[in-house]
Amino acid sequence: MNPCKCGYFGHPTKACTCSTESRIKYMSRISGPLLDRIDLQVEMRTMTYKEISERKPGEPSAVIRARVNRARDFSRRRFEKYGFNISCNAQMTPAMIRVCCELDEEAEALFKEAFDKLSLSPRAHDRILRVARTIADLNERENIQSSDIAETLALRNLDKSYFNPARM
Ligand SMILES: [Zn+2]
Repeated sequence: MNPCKCGYFGHPTKACTCSTESRIKYMSRISGPLLDRIDLQVEMRTMTYKEISERKPGEPSAVIRARVNRARDFSRRRFEKYGFNISCNAQMTPAMIRVCCELDEEAEALFKEAFDKLSLSPRAHDRILRVARTIADLNERENIQSSDIAETLALRNLDKSYFNPARM
């Protein structure tokens, strides 16, 4: 979605013509509980012509597929270990998340700080753990480390931006 009605809020060169009230009204079209259910919320900045027209090849899909399969095998072994009849992290129930998402000490401290500072909901808490678990699986790590939590929070940047009415 656009950041505001005119579309230029946060634009590097063009000025936004919306009032604060109008931006709040625009953002409130997407409610907090709905936003909470979106795992990855990334703010995209405007691209320059040069960036768009560059023809650099991306990472081949086959390489990405192999990495995803490795991570899914890694998490499946965990589900088997605990006798959970599921095949991917998205299917973890809140109770399974408690068992499968062990954080190391530093990760726990970082998560607690972010949780308090961003006034996160219980739903966001579980969703963040699920994504952090997936990042840890991609790196074949048994426990979730602080870097996994930090990366997850960076992929949820609307919690702490102008999309959050408490921060406008
Ligand atoms: Zn605007």
